[in-house]
This record gives sequence, structure tokens and C-alpha cells, in this order.
Amino acid sequence: GGGGNNSGLVYLIIWLLVDHPAIGIPTVIVIGIGYYFTHTSVKGYVRGQRTQRGLVAIDANREAEAIAALQQRDTEFSVDRFYARVQTAFVKVQDAWCKQNLTPVRPFVSDGVHERFSLQFSEQKEEGYHDQMDDLAINSVQMAQLTSESVFDAATVRIDATSTDRHISLADGHDMPGADAPGPFAEYWTFLRRRGAKTTDKDGLIEGNCPNCGAAIELNAGAQCSSCHALLRSGQYDWVLVEISQESEWRPEYPHALPGVAELQLNDPDFDIADLEDRVSVMFWRKCRADRLGKIDPLRKVATANFCDFYSKLLLPTSGPDGAPHGPRSFWGDCAVGGLETHGVIRGEPMDRALVEVRWSGLMFQASPPKTPVRSTYGNVARHLYVLVRTAGVKTNAGGGISSAHCPNCGAPISDDSSDACRFCGTVLNDGTRGWVLEQILPMTDAKARDLLMKLAMQTPPVPATPATLGAAGMVATPVGVPAKVIPEPVTLLAWAVQSVTSGSSSGLDASEMQMLQAVAQRCNISSEQLRRMLDAAQNGRLATREPMDAQQAEQWLGEMMTAALAGGDVTGEELRLFNSIGTRYRLSAYDVGMLLKRQKNSLYNNAVEALRYRKLQASQT
Ligand SMILES: [Zn+2]
Ligand SMILES: [Zn+2]
Repeated sequence: GGGGNNSGLVYLIIWLLVDHPAIGIPTVIVIGIGYYFTHTSVKGYVRGQRTQRGLVAIDANREAEAIAALQQRDTEFSVDRFYARVQTAFVKVQDAWCKQNLTPVRPFVSDGVHERFSLQFSEQKEEGYHDQMDDLAINSVQMAQLTSESVFDAATVRIDATSTDRHISLADGHDMPGADAPGPFAEYWTFLRRRGAKTTDKDGLIEGNCPNCGAAIELNAGAQCSSCHALLRSGQYDWVLVEISQESEWRPEYPHALPGVAELQLNDPDFDIADLEDRVSVMFWRKCRADRLGKIDPLRKVATANFCDFYSKLLLPTSGPDGAPHGPRSFWGDCAVGGLETHGVIRGEPMDRALVEVRWSGLMFQASPPKTPVRSTYGNVARHLYVLVRTAGVKTNAGGGISSAHCPNCGAPISDDSSDACRFCGTVLNDGTRGWVLEQILPMTDAKARDLLMKLAMQTPPVPATPATLGAAGMVATPVGVPAKVIPEPVTLLAWAVQSVTSGSSSGLDASEMQMLQAVAQRCNISSEQLRRMLDAAQNGRLATREPMDAQQAEQWLGEMMTAALAGGDVTGEELRLFNSIGTRYRLSAYDVGMLLKRQKNSLYNNAVEALRYRKLQASQT
């Protein structure tokens, strides 16, 4: 109180208190409460506004850094033109998706993306529908991150769009159930280009032209331009789409050295993580296809003979007591990949091993051939370690670029037939002498997976990423306003929450626990279907979540969940109960959780202020 204008009121209150306490005391209480609430909520509102603007500024700062890094190396790079091209690509891909025809987008999508769409199309066709997206509108496009590996620049763009999704019967054109909820959605699209490639003013892959000679693209079997024979998806001439991630599956990455990779690159300078991960993506989708067909053929050329022998046994129909085939066989279908994460390379003789973690989800299907497989409502969310082998000393084919499903010898597409050799040139493809092949798929919780990761960690001390090399790669170690720690994706945090809540209750979840989880899922833009798959997996003890390493990291993760909630407004009662329930698992009292929330609020606010300040500084310099 106090101050000129209020002094009359203050005297009045004092007079009431002294001479008429029966009126004065309640009045003071009422005014006091009123003052407290208006004051704190106005302050809270202002802080909230600033935090929101600050979060936008953090994204804008990250965007500015990525663009500056690209322009430094490629002076012709125009962000407006790039965004326009991304929009063209987005519309073309959505159109191809709805028409179940990849031909128009084939020139600019990687083999991994191609395999994924192809499999999803066969699933849709078997179930008798195609997708239709009405009223598709792109609301914004923004560069989210630029990373540079040894060979490729990877530009990740956030696309905010709106549409109404429908499933249309292929037979009679009527609506079918199962479409996504209508409304806004955000995706992160990652494009690769060879480092050193330069922007030209000519049309390129996305527009359907050869970026080398300008001719309209007619792809031959080897993915070359039929006019000039340039290998089109090498990333040497133009951007290639390698990954599409949902908002909840994405997180920014900070440069960190992976064990074994620098050592491998001494002998194989063209080895690149993005390339490796596209290859794993092809393996994942081929495994899904093998599961669906009940045949090992799709894996023949990308997995070792040992793995194929082992895995083909799992594809047999379950046998009855008389030895006769006895169905139905079950498998995971309608799969989605949440993300790939390379852990590193174990150098060895005679084979090197690359370890890549795959986060995925799916629904159980029942197959009783020759009938179409039938989907159940039973879901799964899991993490597996893909172990790839390659003969030590083999080098990456530098000119081959991102051609994960093409023969390294002749460039022909790797077909689905039962042979382990290229159909065109006869080169045996699955022995590791020509490139990386799949040796094992292990659940992350499997002892063998843990042994391999341990071996990887023991192998060499990780090479610290020095500021000098980061500068050369055009990356900034710590974007302003974002702590330089590894932030788990929202979906990983939710899985952890699901695990925490379900492990605490033996008799299944009650309504209020469900509400708590739904509140967090909604906050992170995770669909109720995805949450359902997680709950199914958790109930069967199969939800292989990442867990914090210790109480300190648990507190950090809990803090991230709080930040996600705070970024969307304020923490609800349900969310707070969830935080407390998770906290209990790590011996955090309600008081500790309350203090953590307060700290999180403050640091979010401070980061936002700092980012805004940085933004202003940048603006004043230009
Ligand atoms: Zn050409
Ligand atoms: Zn070949």
C-alpha cells in the first residue's frame, strides 16, 4: 500500500481498525486478500506473457543460427526460397500419400521414407481404404535445427499445418472409421544435403527436375537422371527428405561425439550417421513387411544369413500338437517409428558393429492366410537395439550417398525376392563386405543389448567435442536460453510417467490416474491412441522405457515435464498430482516437488528473458 492516492484509504482503514475494530478487521482481511490475488495474478500473467514470447524467441534464435550457419557455407542459400520449396514438398508428399502413389515424390525422398510409405500403402490397401486430407493448410514453416555430420548437412524444419483426415473406402468411396482427429498438427521434416553443395536458382528434385542438367526427371532403375546420369538422391545436388517426425517425438540435438565413430572415420571418412540411420529405417520397415507377409524375403539382402535363418523360424505359423500348421500367427502392424538414435560403433575384427536404437509403436494383428490380417485393439510401444555389422576396413561408397536400399555395386534397387544377391549384378549383399547389414534385433532391456552398450562405453573414452570443430561444422554448442543437456522427447517423458504410475498400482489404473496421464499426453500433443498403446505395453511389462539414471536425473526429467506443462500455460491439479506421484518413486516429498516446480518456473522465465534480450541485440546489430 502507501503512496499518494492510497493514503486516504489507508487512514480510513486505520481509523476503522482503532475505533471500530468489528468493521475494521474484516475490511482489512478482505482488502488484503483482494490485493494479494490481483497483485500475484497480474504479476503471474505478465510473467506468463513474457515466458510465451521468450519461448518463441528461443525458436527464432535457433532458426537464425541455423540459417546463418548455412549461409556461411552456401552464400546463395535463400531461406524464403527454401521454405517455399519445403511447402511444395509437403503438399506433394501429402498428395502422394492420399493417392497411394509415390512416383511424383520419389526423386526427393530417401529409401527409408520410401520403404515406410510403401509398406503403409500395402497395409491400407489390404484393409481397403486410402487416406484423404481435406482443407490442408500450412500455417508456418520454421527451421528448427541444422546439424552437420561428416558428409551431410541435415536441416530440420518444423511445419505447422491443419487438416481434416478421412479414411475413404477403396471399394465404394464411403468414409471408414479410424481417421485421426481433425485440427492443427506439427511435424519435423529433416532434409539432407552433402556438405559443400551449393544452392542454384534452377528447379530441383522437389520440383521434378534434375538439379544437375535441368531435364524433367525420369528415374532409371539406378536412381539416375536418364539424361545426364547424375545420381539424383546422392544429396550432392539437392536436398533429400530423410525423416518425418511427429512433434511429440522430436527434440533438438546438441553436438556430442559418439564412441567409436571418429576412429572409424579415420579409415572411412565418408561414414555418416544420417546415412546409417536411413539404412536402419529401411531394415525396420523391411522387418515389418516380413512380419506381415510371413516371409523372410524382404530381409534377405539387408540382414545376415544367420539372422534370416533365426528370424524365419519366428515367421512360421504356430504348430499344433500334430505338427500341422495351426494359426493364427500374430505380429505387430500399423507401426510408427518414433525415432532412431545411434549409440556408436564397436571397432572389431573381423567385423565392426554399429548400434542404433529404434523407438517404435504398433498394434497386434492376427494372420491366418490366405485371409487378410485382422487388426486387434492391443497395442505396443517398445525400444529395440539394431545391431549392424560390416567387415572391418570396408569403406562407405562416397558417390552412393543416401541409397540405403540400392545395390552398392550396380546401383539397382534391392528387391524383395528370396536371394541374398543383387538381381542385376549378382553381388552378394548380406555378408557385410559391401556395407552395413543387420545382425541382430534386441530389446533394449535384453542382457545382450546391455552387454553391447557396455562394451561400447568401455571401448574408448568419448572424444570431447571441441568448440573449434563445432565452429567448423557451423554449429553452436549451446543455443541461447536452452540448457546444454540432453532433453528426453515428450513421448519418452510420457512413457516414463506411465511406467511410474502403473508400477505403483498392482490393480490397474483408476480413473484419476488415467486423467493425470491424459492431461500430460494432451499437453505434449500425444494422441490418445499412442497413450493407449503405451498403457497396453506397460500392463504386460513390455514398455521398455528409458529411466533416469539416478535421483538427480529423475528430478531433471520431472523438471522437463513441468516445463512442458508451464510452456502451455500453467500446471493443472491433475498434473501436479502426477508430478507428486512420480516424485514419490524417487523419494521426493510434496514440498520438494513444489520447490522444483517453482525453480522450473523461474528458470523458464529467466531463459525467456535472456532469449528476448539476445533477439533484441541481434536485431539492433543488423
Ligand atoms: Zn540430369
Ligand atoms: Zn547390383
